[in-house]
Amino acid sequence: MRLSQMLLVTLREDPAEAEIPSHKLLLRAGYIRRIGSGIYAYLPLLWRVLKKVTQIVREEMDATGAQECLLPQLQPAELWQESGRWDTYTKAEGILFALGDRQGRELGLGPTHEEVITAVARDMIRSYRQLPVHLYQVQTKFRDEIRPRFGLMRGREFIMKDGYSFHADTDSLKRTYQEMYQAYSNILRRCGLTFRAVEADSGAIGGSGSHEFMVLADAGEDEVLYTEDGTYAANVEKAIALPPDAVPSTYTERQVLETPNANTIERLADQLRCAPSAIAKTVLYQATFDNGQLVLVLISIRGDQAVNEVKLNNALVKLADRYDAKTLLSLEVADTGGTWAAKDLPVGYLGPDLPDSFINAIAKVSPKFLRLADQTVTDLKNFVTGANAPQQHVVGANWGEALPLPTVVDIRKAQAGDRAVHDQAQLLQSARGIEIGHIFQLGTKYSKALGATFTNEQGEEMPLVMGCYGVGVSRLAQAAVEQSYDKDGIIWPVAIAPYQVVVVIPNLNETAQVEAAEQLYQDLQAAGIEALLDDRNERAGVKFKDAELIGIPFRVVTGRSLAQGKVEVVKRRDRSSLDLPLAEVVPTLKAWIDEAIQAT
Ligand code: ATP
Ligand code: MG
Repeated sequence: MRLSQMLLVTLREDPAEAEIPSHKLLLRAGYIRRIGSGIYAYLPLLWRVLKKVTQIVREEMDATGAQECLLPQLQPAELWQESGRWDTYTKAEGILFALGDRQGRELGLGPTHEEVITAVARDMIRSYRQLPVHLYQVQTKFRDEIRPRFGLMRGREFIMKDGYSFHADTDSLKRTYQEMYQAYSNILRRCGLTFRAVEADSGAIGGSGSHEFMVLADAGEDEVLYTEDGTYAANVEKAIALPPDAVPSTYTERQVLETPNANTIERLADQLRCAPSAIAKTVLYQATFDNGQLVLVLISIRGDQAVNEVKLNNALVKLADRYDAKTLLSLEVADTGGTWAAKDLPVGYLGPDLPDSFINAIAKVSPKFLRLADQTVTDLKNFVTGANAPQQHVVGANWGEALPLPTVVDIRKAQAGDRAVHDQAQLLQSARGIEIGHIFQLGTKYSKALGATFTNEQGEEMPLVMGCYGVGVSRLAQAAVEQSYDKDGIIWPVAIAPYQVVVVIPNLNETAQVEAAEQLYQDLQAAGIEALLDDRNERAGVKFKDAELIGIPFRVVTGRSLAQGKVEVVKRRDRSSLDLPLAEVVPTLKAWIDEAIQAT
């Protein structure tokens, strides 16, 4: 491609709308243009990158025997009503773009395709003989994200590869899951990314397996906890670990003490000169179930620990049938000024035995607190906790008849410095990650909901066992930049660079320079190398700057050394350069490119 014919507009300044390096660079280097919030035009350079990523994804998927298809983006609401997700996706999370057709029927723009594929499987799969089977697609997804940001990282329209597998039993699912784990590792490695596969939350479905593929970068929205020995890595949402031991309480008997202004753990610990780990703190959440029922959730957890809201959410979904509900719509820290509160709450002084009389007995509000305790408070002795009255705490408290231990669930947020479960000598470390892929053992959630069954070898009718696997193709492209740039621009991994080589003509008025460049440009293409020719009528400095900004791995300059029959060849990654005789340019570049692609 000749740069003189390309629609390339580069920016010298960082665009104000961009916060993280990869977003700034993709805008500055002319890869993307913002059209609206979370909506981007993929310009020709980026489209080439996306096609390369997709090609790698396809090769790895096809190698596992998965088959490519293309499912509709317009999805009838009924399918989502059957799975029970219409309400959560339109109301609770509100992530689904819902629309109506001229007949007044409701439709959604596909954010994901479990419903559609399960409907296909329901119609087509009858027998175990047709299993296992795995279909995938590469397609634009739509999600009305609460906070679209960071360019392609969190768009409202983005490209995803999503695949769904169907099995007769869990063993078969596990085999495919393992193959996908390998395929995803291959994809990220071949795209030149440094990543970590981490245990991930699989929501309330529970089940045995879910991994996320995280590209490690400071701009990542996820936190990963891992051990140095590499045996444990998990998303903080899912991570388990052993908290530091509690400091034993110095109190020996139960007393109620005046604790003025001690409405935070820090102030309380200060005032009582006790360790935060000797306190059982009380946190109040409000949960709304899909039948509109509001439940106040009173949680006891050790003072030095924090609640993991993802774990709490999952625990509540499991308790939904207690409230005649199917699932949870929302979960937030309780609004103590809400209509549910019968009287002023002693916020900051709540205890696990806060009387239910604080709850207003109105419709749609559960009249009793749902009392939960994290494992960390169960072993506390003579601990400190709220006295349910302003400016007062109880010290020397113990679980027992007067203070029953609530239902124990794991709702603690693991954190850096915790001891690993598999080896207590190892402490968890923390890193930021960008979630690029997610593989998931779904089980029978969707097949049961939609009635997708098959007949097994014994002639019994069984729900299909499912897995699903997603890679964010557009997010991956930007993540590659986030991992690989310098102050002058992008440094693309060779395997996914839009072009492999740029030939720069420093001065268009020098015929020798132009002729040598044109010849090299042709020879490179003839050798199957993807080349750009910078034949623009611009100053040499501008061309060099643009070449660096765009991040093409190798640059050839037909400059001064032409007099000796040589040209300068520069590697973008380390800026090392050498003068090569004209005849050696193509074979040398070919060798470098092959080597770089094979190394990954
Ligand atoms: P996140 O936690 O980042 O919102 P998710 O868990 O909702 O992602 P999945 O439903 O597992 O994402 O989708 C599979 C992949 O699609 C993700 O791993 C990610 O790479 C990509 N992806 C998801 N949401 C977006 C988005 N808004 N913009 C770009 N890529 C996305
Ligand atoms: Mg995910």
